Amino acid sequence: MAILTLDNVTIRFGGLVAVDKVNLAVEEGNIQALIGPNGAGKSTLFNLITGIYTPTEGEIRFNGEVISGRQTHQIAALGIGRTFQNIRLFNELPVIENVLIGAHTRGKWDLLGSILRPAPWVKREEEQLLDWAMECLDRVDLAGKAWEIASNLSYGEQRRLEIARALALKPRILLLDEPAAGMNPFEKQVLMEIVQKIRQTGMTVFLVEHDMKFVMGISDRIAVLDYGVKIAEGKPEEVRVNPQVIEAYLGK
Ligand code: ADP
Ligand code: MG
Repeated sequence: MAILTLDNVTIRFGGLVAVDKVNLAVEEGNIQALIGPNGAGKSTLFNLITGIYTPTEGEIRFNGEVISGRQTHQIAALGIGRTFQNIRLFNELPVIENVLIGAHTRGKWDLLGSILRPAPWVKREEEQLLDWAMECLDRVDLAGKAWEIASNLSYGEQRRLEIARALALKPRILLLDEPAAGMNPFEKQVLMEIVQKIRQTGMTVFLVEHDMKFVMGISDRIAVLDYGVKIAEGKPEEVRVNPQVIEAYLGK
């Protein structure tokens, strides 16, 4: 069953059609990839799904509900989590607090402060939130670094921390925009295993990624964008040999 569907989704920026009549269905529990040359419209598509942009035409449904036109926080609350192409961390804060910032959607209190002060007013609810944040860190193999300052993490770890923060909101689908970008082969391998582990928890993953080895090795299905148009879609072995896809990559 499709958890996320795009129906004829289009966005224009002035004269530029950045995403052009895209139809796509992301199956629940799958790892769906979106590939395409630079400027193809991949990040814009994620911005459309998460409500940063509203489609000029077309409709986006999540779990059967129309979400296009809604606000970003409403869409996030429905269960769509994401990371961004560029790292967006609070560098001066401990790793765990970066996750907790993801977890308190209501932003109602200084959680870390209340945890660090000795009990008795440490509430159960806060302890549960801390446990949950630790679990999210564990899912990206960072539990051991919970109390480090975020800027002290390696680049690969910082990117994984962003995933933990997205997981903290308990999404049903996780959108990852170029999660392996800038990583060395070892960091990529670690990330690949982590994404597979996250999927095993029942999560649907939708990722944009340039590294073909990564994409081919991890994805159930791959969609290809070129100049905003979906030019191909299928299993990795189908997409790999598609002449239009080869042309889109090699023709530039
Ligand atoms: P990709 O992520 O595939 O590399 P993007 O989605 O970032 O590509 O960009 C697709 C195209 O849309 C590019 O030509 C980009 O310059 C343009 N674009 C993206 N956002 C905006 C915007 N807010 N205003 C104008 N043009 C934009
Ligand atoms: Mg992009």
